[in-house]
Amino acid sequence: MVVMVGADRIGSREQIDSAQSICNRRIANRLIISPSNLNYTNTEGLILSLNQNLEKLSNACGVTGRENTVRDLMVDMLKPYADEIQVDRMENVIAIKKGKHGAPKIMLAAHMDEVGLMVKTLTKDGFIQFSKMGGIDDRILPAQKVVVHTKATAYPGTIGSKPPHIQKEEERKKIISYDDLFIDIGAKDKEDAISLGVAVGDPITFDVKYLQLSKGVVMGKAFDNRAGCAVMIETMRLLKEANCTVCAVGTVQEEVGLRGAATAAFGIDPDLAIALDVTIAGDVPGVREFDTTVKMGKGPALTISDSGLITHPKILRWLLDTAQEEKIPIQLESGLLGSTDAARISITRQGVPSGTISIPTRYIHSPTSILSIQDLELSAKLAAAAIQKAATYF
Ligand SMILES: [Zn+2]
Repeated sequence: MVVMVGADRIGSREQIDSAQSICNRRIANRLIISPSNLNYTNTEGLILSLNQNLEKLSNACGVTGRENTVRDLMVDMLKPYADEIQVDRMENVIAIKKGKHGAPKIMLAAHMDEVGLMVKTLTKDGFIQFSKMGGIDDRILPAQKVVVHTKATAYPGTIGSKPPHIQKEEERKKIISYDDLFIDIGAKDKEDAISLGVAVGDPITFDVKYLQLSKGVVMGKAFDNRAGCAVMIETMRLLKEANCTVCAVGTVQEEVGLRGAATAAFGIDPDLAIALDVTIAGDVPGVREFDTTVKMGKGPALTISDSGLITHPKILRWLLDTAQEEKIPIQLESGLLGSTDAARISITRQGVPSGTISIPTRYIHSPTSILSIQDLELSAKLAAAAIQKAATYF
């Protein structure tokens, strides 16, 4: 889920047009994956449970613009359920399950990127100064353990700041801006950091491993949006012979402006689309009902409106009917700040009826998000059941 506020608001017509024209030039050159041209560790495809898929995906590094590790996992995990897998020029993964001729073409979109950091400069003392990739609140940064991913390896480190003992009174009251923070990997000086292989542009993730909390509740660093990726894989697994053609797309660069979804949607030219993403679970102290009534463990959320999308009425009817017929509990949300890939897909070409199925997740855009596995299962069940019925609606 992308943050959309003030000057950072993204999704202008100009941005979309330029992304689409780039795609238009390149679409003919899409790469078809075969075991011979990409060296994947498991060419048979990884068949794991939903829980295991989420663990592998959440632990992987996929900071916006550097999604390659997650992309490789997605290719392996989608392979058993697809007739064909492509990686396009933007490096979106497109797994295609072919349907009957003349039936609707459905695009599923789950973004593979996560919010994180990137090496910006190295100080002469060997500390790393960084930029933020995606919407991260500066207040969560100090004292976080991180991993700096260099070309050849990865180094653990921590985000350092001035200790409270030597802060002035007014400094203690202020939020420390990210540009006053730095990462310490224990390098002796700049030359030492360079000799370790640290370079400008290296992605940096939070150092948090997937963890089971109470029964069915898990915590991880990148549920936004590896949760959506895991739901998409599960949806493809659940799909039996559908009339529709389904293009399950792992998109890139969502957190900085829904960019991969723009080009993928232009290339695929779907009849309708569903984004699978997380949404804010508001069942924690301090969140007003006005802000959200969505709760963890109460089933998938359907967006009526957010900052970038008003869900197409036919899409909403289709999903609501499916949920009712399949007895899947759902939650509705409207007026949400933030948006998903569905916003961009919906205004592709002459327009694509689009909606979202969202997994309620606590503390998104922080290193420690929490969700319920049951919500993942129900989200996949809803998506798969809806796809089976799509031909009667579209
Ligand atoms: Zn997000």
